[in-house]
Amino acid sequence: LVSRKKKPEDTIVDVKGEKIGDGKQYFVMGPCAVESYEQVAEVAKAVKKHGLKLLRGGAYKPRTSPYDFQGLGLEGLKILKQIADEYELAVISEIVTPADIDLALDYIDVIQIGARNMQNFELLKAAGQVKKPVLLKRGLAATIEEFINAAEYIMSQGNDQIILCERGIRTYERATRNTLDISAVPILKKETHLPVFVDVTHSTGRRDLLLPCAKAALAIGADGVMAEVHPDPAVALSDSAQQMDIDQFNEFMEELKSFQRQM
Ligand code: PEP
Ligand code: MN
Repeated sequence: LVSRKKKPEDTIVDVKGEKIGDGKQYFVMGPCAVESYEQVAEVAKAVKKHGLKLLRGGAYKPRTSPYDFQGLGLEGLKILKQIADEYELAVISEIVTPADIDLALDYIDVIQIGARNMQNFELLKAAGQVKKPVLLKRGLAATIEEFINAAEYIMSQGNDQIILCERGIRTYERATRNTLDISAVPILKKETHLPVFVDVTHSTGRRDLLLPCAKAALAIGADGVMAEVHPDPAVALSDSAQQMDIDQFNEFMEELKSFQRQM
């Protein structure tokens, strides 16, 4: 169902009236994790200032270590909902268990399925059974074929509102946290009719690489770029090494807007 052979025209994912996949390139910015109302509000203000519509923030954090911050859970979803209403933004947040898919319907605008859950088939099926857009991330060690099949799991249940997100894969290279597979973007766009985003934060794990990789993503035809922004990355409860602060985010957006004008 996700194959372009079956459906030649692009699928447009409607997120609160934003037509993702329709040619305009989107930016999904926000903190790694929701830590407090004030923290998310500060980022929302900056996002709004740049005329952006999509805010991210994790309420459920699937961390590598069980001793790391696991997220605020429902409290985090409530904060996101409040901010979305106050700032007129659409929020994207990760859901990690099928049991919480129904919760997502009330609080968020896009369900994110994270890299670690790309082959959690019960979660994919549950997300396929609701009327809510899904942002599906590529698994840590997933081939493009496996990634496409994961999207097929969602769509086969009736939900065609899927955004694919390349977020880097594990290779032998240690200079970056993961290896950004930039060629996945045109391959996914050729093989499927779904919009494709690139997450420059989790792929690189390096703040200094966010801008060049975002430019590459825009130039290669991604429908959107995701990156993490935190009011004070040094004290962030997760991913403190790669989130941008507000000043860096402002600069990042200015550079990308001028890059887009030159494209
Ligand atoms: C995230 O976007 O918050 C995240 C945990 O990313 P990934 O699933 O790609 O590691
Ligand atoms: Mn993160």
